[in-house]
Parts: sequence; structure tokens; C-alpha cells
Amino acid sequence: MDEKRRTRILILGGGFAGLYAAIELEKGLARDPGVEVTLVNRENFFLFTPMLHEVAASDLDITHIVNPVRKLLRRVKFFDGVVEYVDLPNRRVGVSHGRERHGHELEYDHLVLALGSVTNFYGLPGLEERALTMKTLGDAVALRNRLISNLEEADFECCPRARAPLLNLVVAGGGFAGVETVAGVNDFLREAVRFYPHLREEMLRVVLVHPGEVILPELGEKLGRYAQKKLAARGVEIRTNTKVESVTEREVSLSDGERITSSTLVWTAGTSPNPLLETLPCRRERGRLCADKFLEVEGWPGVWALGDCASVPDPSTGRPCPPTAQHALRQGKVVARNIEAAVRGRARRPFAFKTLGQLATIGRRTGVANILGVNFSGFVAWWLWRTIYLAKLPRFEKKLRVALDWTLDLLFTKDIVQYMDPPAPTLSHAEGAGRPGAAGMMEEPEAVLS
Ligand SMILES: Cc1cc2nc3c(=O)[nH]c(=O)nc-3n(C[C@H](O)[C@H](O)[C@H](O)COP(=O)(O)OP(=O)(O)OC[C@H]3O[C@@H](n4cnc5c(N)ncnc54)[C@H](O)[C@@H]3O)c2cc1C
Repeated sequence: MDEKRRTRILILGGGFAGLYAAIELEKGLARDPGVEVTLVNRENFFLFTPMLHEVAASDLDITHIVNPVRKLLRRVKFFDGVVEYVDLPNRRVGVSHGRERHGHELEYDHLVLALGSVTNFYGLPGLEERALTMKTLGDAVALRNRLISNLEEADFECCPRARAPLLNLVVAGGGFAGVETVAGVNDFLREAVRFYPHLREEMLRVVLVHPGEVILPELGEKLGRYAQKKLAARGVEIRTNTKVESVTEREVSLSDGERITSSTLVWTAGTSPNPLLETLPCRRERGRLCADKFLEVEGWPGVWALGDCASVPDPSTGRPCPPTAQHALRQGKVVARNIEAAVRGRARRPFAFKTLGQLATIGRRTGVANILGVNFSGFVAWWLWRTIYLAKLPRFEKKLRVALDWTLDLLFTKDIVQYMDPPAPTLSHAEGAGRPGAAGMMEEPEAVLS
């Protein structure tokens, strides 16, 4: 088949939206030798974000919540690279990869924009330089490492002034990511502190700062208040109607005037659509690309937008769909079918999906959930969370690994080993200095047998 005559479908972003579009195309259009489907993502894995807090809290091993894209896709080509620019008028995308970040230009007939969102610090002083975030696998590993290194340092720090910022943690944002993170790391710290002989649990301070009246507003007031009560009983201080205003090396300032002595702020209180979209000559709503009900970008036939980076009309509410994994993965499937319909000249299908429910874990085998309008709390909600998300995690191997981690968690305490990435120390001597017999080196034994 002549390469030029192939229909080229290019998917940008391998999160819930892009990956599920690729998986759906894999089952249909990608089997056609006249069609070439390529997925570009800057990591070679798909991250299952609902379990991210479990990595930060040392409940799960870091690789168990990610799946290599190459094991998920066989017919769809995968390009491990960074999208640098999108040239819509000329139907080209610039991608860089490799250690030297050299560039490639990829052409397309259909373009799927699924680049997700980024953390937004809203220009608050000190946050860009100092706050930790919870968006990527690296973020969860960095948070876990920070918690452990703070405990290690505090254990041999006799000066209370130096010790306090290491033992106080502030999480900003009372949505799902913030609540699940604060619950998980609070349990982790309180369990881990037992291994540090100079520290006691009472020395720890964990604070959740939320701008609204009640945390987890998506689940309604009743479940939000229940979650607050449970977290408070486990030692988490909850500051509602409060915002983080700035952060310095040893202080987090709040809008109520309080200054919390802490060197660790986890920011989950704001996201914005991927900034790359700002360069596109398309209509946007609050930064998200406006897509029609078929997920096609207004005014750009053959360009599709979905997931967190897109504003897709929700026919049941009349408002844009919320930025959730549930919506992103279903939009991925619909976009794949609509591209197939466009290629084959068939009728396209509008996107319609009603949220089935929402769940959150709040630590120590407790959860809150609203499923099909019914509220659940406590152990039942926690069990539902684990069962539903385990079922959703792609690939049997990873499901089994996660299930084993959870089972072993019943028998053993949480691991407090830090993940180190600096290479081992090495030496590089001037010529002669490193030869046998040179000062500081062990001499090679003389040959005694001839
Ligand atoms: C901690 C956390 C917990 C969450 N929990 C839930 C939950 O329980 N339930 C739920 O429904 N939703 C949850 N969400 C929200 C959910 O993760 C998002 O709505 C969903 O991931 C959106 O999918 P997406 O494909 O649009 O974006 P993403 O999943 O963010 O995927 C975007 C992809 O694009 C890639 N990318 C971005 N820029 C570039 C570039 N320039 N070059 C190459 N690749 C690029 C990224 O690496 C990423 O792989 C959670 C989110 C977080 C952060």
C-alpha cells in the first residue's frame, strides 16, 4: 500500500481519553491496511490516576498503577515523545524525543487532541518553586520521598524550630485528589513515625485547606461532613472557607491570617487545560477547546478534542462535561467510532453519558460514595472503591499486583524505603593516579608463582 494514500490518524496524549480512543481504534480501523494510527505520549505508560495517592502513601508499588502503552496496543503505533507544536492549517504536528530532544514532524488526516490538563498555581507567591503536586507518577514518588526524608531529618534534629516544618504537612484542595491524598499520607505518617525513636505521633501536624464550606463538594454535603468528621478523628485538621495565599521555605500562609510552620505544601487546588492549546486558532471556553456533540473541534473538520482539554457539551445538563476519567475514557471510545464513521462515510454518533457515581477513600478502610444517587459511607464505600477501581485498572497482571499489594498490606507495615535516583558515586582520576600502586589505591598483589 502506498504510504501517501493511507489515512493517517494521529492521537496526541495517552491518558484516559487518548488511550481509550487508541484501544477502540485498535479493535476496528487499525486492522485496515489502508489506515495508520499513531499515538504520541510523553511517557511510555498509561497512568491510572485514581490510585495515585496510594503510591504517595506507600500502599502500592510505583509501577503497579501504570501500564506500558506497548503492552496495551499492538496495531496502533506508539511514539514516545513530547508534542512541541500543532500546525492545524498545514495538518502537521511537531514532536521531539530522545536525549537530545531532536524533532520530527508528523502529518495527519485526523487529529485527536487529548493532552489533558496541568496544575495551575494561579501565580500565588512561592508555589511554583516550592509546592508539590499530584498529577503524575513522578509527583506521587516525590511526595512519598519528601515525607520519608522529612522524618529521617527530623529524627536527628534536636532543635524544635528546625524540626517543626519537617513534621507539619499542608494539603491544599478538598476535592477528590486532595482528600484522598491527605487521608493516605496522614495514615502513612502516623504508621511510619513509630520507626523513628526520637519522634512521637503528637509531633505530627497534617492540615487540609479547602476554600468551600464542606470538602468533597461533588458528593454532597452529607458525605462531605462525614468525611470531615472521620479525617478529624484521625488527626487531620480541616480548614474550610480558607485558601492558601503563599508559601516560603518554612511557612504556609492562609487567607484567615494563620501561618503554618511547614516545609511541605501539596497543591491539588487548581488545574488548567494544557497550555499548548492556547496556540491553536480555535474557540476555547475557560481554556478548553470547544468540541461539538460529535467531539469534533468547531470549524476544523478532522480535528477532534476530548478529555480534560476539551469542552464537550453534556446533553443531560446543558453544561460542559466535568473533567473526569469516566467521561474521558467514554469520549475516547466515541471519538474512535466517529473517526471510523468519517473514514467509511457513515453517520456519526453524539456523545452522551451520565455520571454513574463518584467514590473516594478517606483512609483506614473507610470511604464515601454516591452511586446512581445512593449514598454509601464507611467500610462498604471503601470496599466499593477498591472493587470498582481494581476492575477498571487495565491488564490482569497489574490487577493481580495491586490485589497482592493490598493483601500484603494486611500483614506488614508500610514500606519506608526511599526511591533514590542519583547514580552511585564514582571516581575519575588523572592518568596514573588511579594505577595500581598510586597513592590511595590498593596495590595489586605481586605474582608469586612463576
Ligand atoms: C490524583 C488524581 C486522582 C483522580 N481521581 C479520579 C477518579 O477517582 N475518578 C475520575 O473519574 N477521575 C479522576 N481524576 C481525573 C482524571 O484523572 C482525569 O479527568 C483524566 O485523567 C483526564 O483524562 P485525559 O486523557 O483528558 O488527560 P490525562 O489523563 O491527563 O492525559 C493526558 C496525557 O497527555 C500527555 N501529554 C500532555 N502534554 C503532552 C505533550 N506536550 N506531549 C506528549 N504528551 C503529552 C500526558 O503525559 C498524559 O499522558 C483524578 C485525577 C488526579 C490528578
